Amino acid sequence: MKVLVADRIANEGIRLLSEDPEIEVEVAIGLKPEELRERIKGYDALIVRSETKVTKEIIEASDKLKVIARAGVGVDNIDVWAATRKGIIVMNAPDPNTISTAEHTMGLMLAMLRNIPQAWASLRDGKWERSKFMGVELCGKTLGIIGFGRIGSEVAKRALAFQMEVIAYDPYVPPERAAKIGVKMCKTLEELLSKADCITIHVHLTNETRGMIGEREFSLMKPGVRIINCARGGIVDEKALLKALNEGKVAGAALDVFEEEPPRDGELIRHEKVIATPHLGASTEEAQVKVSIVIAEQVRDALKGKGIRNSVNIPSIPPELVKELQPYFLLVEKMGSFIAQLLGERITDVKVEYSGYVTDYDTSLLTMAMLKGILSPALQDAVNYVNAWIMAQERGIKVEESRRKGGARGFSDIITLTAKTVSGESRSISGTLFGKKDPRIVYIDDYHVDAIPEGHILVLSNWDRPGVVGKIGTILGRRGINIASMQFGRERPWGRSIILITTDTPTPPDVVEQLRDVEEVTDVRVLEL
Ligand code: NAD
Repeated sequence: MKVLVADRIANEGIRLLSEDPEIEVEVAIGLKPEELRERIKGYDALIVRSETKVTKEIIEASDKLKVIARAGVGVDNIDVWAATRKGIIVMNAPDPNTISTAEHTMGLMLAMLRNIPQAWASLRDGKWERSKFMGVELCGKTLGIIGFGRIGSEVAKRALAFQMEVIAYDPYVPPERAAKIGVKMCKTLEELLSKADCITIHVHLTNETRGMIGEREFSLMKPGVRIINCARGGIVDEKALLKALNEGKVAGAALDVFEEEPPRDGELIRHEKVIATPHLGASTEEAQVKVSIVIAEQVRDALKGKGIRNSVNIPSIPPELVKELQPYFLLVEKMGSFIAQLLGERITDVKVEYSGYVTDYDTSLLTMAMLKGILSPALQDAVNYVNAWIMAQERGIKVEESRRKGGARGFSDIITLTAKTVSGESRSISGTLFGKKDPRIVYIDDYHVDAIPEGHILVLSNWDRPGVVGKIGTILGRRGINIASMQFGRERPWGRSIILITTDTPTPPDVVEQLRDVEEVTDVRVLEL
């Protein structure tokens, strides 16, 4: 079996693979896309970090490839669907960076509060400015953690050791989980913003979190607040941060990640109250070694049929079933993501009803894929087929599954997913496969629709009145947003109805607001599938 390592990983992982007599490892760093396309033939596995782009062309050019492994978390440099279609496992290693990034966050926080980088620069310039660099203590201050996942919770433990009061905001994590380690969960982001002396961000960059800390959020913070972003650029609006720093609202910012990397505009980084590092969160010897060993073990085991771990696209099912089940996996995962985005808050209860042909299969595998879909809008690549059940449990999601042999709602094969949120809102969707392979959403609540769960989708709830569709079309048209398809479902003439619109491009937030302002429209949800 042949493994190609196309990006630099620590030697420990390469050694682990080459010590296996059945595995031959080759390292070829910095190949151009056309070189990799040529080179990939004959290899069973490809290991990359974020540098190599594993495109559809490269995947299609491969002839023996079974595994594409990312030594790290994000798989945005890999065309996962192209790999899935070819039956290639895509795997990542989400855990090994956690401690390093949590420690980097603590390092930045301490350095910022005591002006260490600025004081060092001044001393190096021959100055001795002791009063200029008066700092503040961590002890007794309130740390607000946005995103209480792996890194967020490790930061919390460390901050507690410094005798900080720690509060967190994460709408997808039950408060009991935070309470267990002495952290108080805030009900709203606004509550955290108004209470924290220091705010640190540990969410993924998603449609929901892009720009989540902007001008409005800075205005809600305590004067003299300090900000740390060790997660992803784009979550904090850099222009708004600069303004808040210049106005004195924010007393300091520590940044490891930027909207553009490397950042072109140095104004923020050069600001006297800003300290910054070039995306070093996971850059420790330990994390690099751990990630290379973990990924090498996963690749070795997958190639030798000893189990698939951290696969982002293929659960561990018998190979002969993969082809038959793949369309169902796609359907249920899309349904999960659809309902999670439709509800937009923490889901506490999930009920899945399988009816018809689908009950011939082991539906627990499909429920697992559905949970992955439900969690992925918040957790992105951190959730996979293997950990979806555990993550759902940790997040307090109760799952109920039922099966019935015959079809339902006029379909011979149909899956209905009902989800309830922490505030009691409950919605349901039903999906089926057209022609045994094309996923379709056929019901949203009790409204019959026929929608392909793909791309940019708007779901509007409204009153059925003449002219509503025209008003909506005009608002979108004015901004050059092309409608690819529009579905309309209503309970009765002049009653409640639902409009599902697929657009060619995303709908910007201000246009969504205009849609919300339409008199007959009662609700607008924005989905990316
Ligand atoms: P994780 O998936 O374990 O945790 C993310 C948490 O964010 C989850 O608990 C989720 O429920 C929560 N969340 C999602 N949407 C939210 C919202 N709107 N408001 C509040 N919380 C929300 O991820 P992790 O491993 O802790 O990683 C966190 C971030 O750190 C990721 O963006 C990751 O890419 C980044 N990271 C950066 C570096 C670096 O080098 N600086 C290294 C590793 C990870």
